[in-house]
Amino acid sequence: MKKIQAWGTTAAGKPLAPMTIDRRAPGEGDVVIQILFCGVCHSDIHQARDEWSGATFPMVPGHEIVGRVIEVGSGVGKFRVGDMAGVGCMVDSCRSCHPCGDGVEQFCLKGNAPTYNGTEMDRKTRTFGGYSAEIVVNEGYALRVPSALDPASAAPLLCAGITTYSPLRQLGCKPGDRVGVVGLGGLGHMAVKLAASMGAKVTVLSTSKSKEADAVRLGATDFIVTSDAVAMKKAAGSLDIVIDTVSAPHDYDTYLSLLRARGAMAIVGAPPTPVTLHAFSLILGGKRLVGSLIGGIAETQEMLDHCAKHGIGSDIEVIPIQQINDAYERVLKSDVRYRFVIDLESLNR
Ligand code: NAP
Ligand code: ZN
Ligand code: ZN
Repeated sequence: MKKIQAWGTTAAGKPLAPMTIDRRAPGEGDVVIQILFCGVCHSDIHQARDEWSGATFPMVPGHEIVGRVIEVGSGVGKFRVGDMAGVGCMVDSCRSCHPCGDGVEQFCLKGNAPTYNGTEMDRKTRTFGGYSAEIVVNEGYALRVPSALDPASAAPLLCAGITTYSPLRQLGCKPGDRVGVVGLGGLGHMAVKLAASMGAKVTVLSTSKSKEADAVRLGATDFIVTSDAVAMKKAAGSLDIVIDTVSAPHDYDTYLSLLRARGAMAIVGAPPTPVTLHAFSLILGGKRLVGSLIGGIAETQEMLDHCAKHGIGSDIEVIPIQQINDAYERVLKSDVRYRFVIDLESLNR
């Protein structure tokens, strides 16, 4: 065990504060990563405030991790000391069930080992996330961060990037498709960039009129303020794919109405409470509604390589860890352009 500096919370909703955590000693298949940057995902807030229930404390959030490998076990072949590496939302899985074999480790039948707010696969060792100085992870669950990517703006790709890349790929997004992105936050702005890079024509559906210019700069061709009933009606039946990233309860029927016949909507935003859905929103037009959870390890690597090839990073506001509680409040007010990223060097201040 090694004592590591971190920031976390000791109970649901309590402000985050400095704390010390124990990191397990690295085994032969593990890498030790000195964390340089960690993105702030809305899921960090949901969990630190126990909005999804079942949270365990103390909790050190953070699952958009980029850092430098500072130690490798004797059996590690994928990384060398000095390499840039990333860690997303999981640090292990059973490696033997069907989903693990199919490369969708996020759906491991034994339950994956989440990067924080859970345990390693021994179901005893608590996991702690990236608002910390170092992390130990099996090399199979660490990603190579291409040198073409800026490390700070690459950090959000480890969750916001893969969570939007995966449904776009699974729904077969292709040049000329019309893609709607609901909610222009951390996930939403990545969905716009990624769909545009796949050749799609992107419409942003936002509650915030002030985000229109940004939407266009990010690659959208159309922008609709969702309170504009006339514009929403005009857009009905026009989209092939909708990616819904909204973090609060809202009306899915409205967005399903924007799909063309046989179109598909992927829910990635995870509101804490159930929502109602009208059966006819799907029946009329033979529409599909799917959910999507991050992505598997191989698909995450594919996404990072895609981003390197297309020059895609997240639009970020870098903060010292001391500003994390203010950052949470600003995320809740949709006042972030478009992802906070913690510079972990600030842990030493
Ligand atoms: P975020 O940065 O806060 O973005 C969410 C956006 O949703 C906001 O910017 C806002 O966009 C819109 N919004 C917020 N409240 C709304 C409301 N009441 N009605 C309508 N729109 C609203 O959050 P994020 O980090 O992108 O995460 C979004 C959601 O995805 C969270 O629930 C998070 O837990 C979840 N998530 C899921 C996965 C997965 O694997 N499925 C992975 C990561 C995160 P506008 O201002 O444009 O309206
Ligand atoms: Zn996340
Ligand atoms: Zn498994």
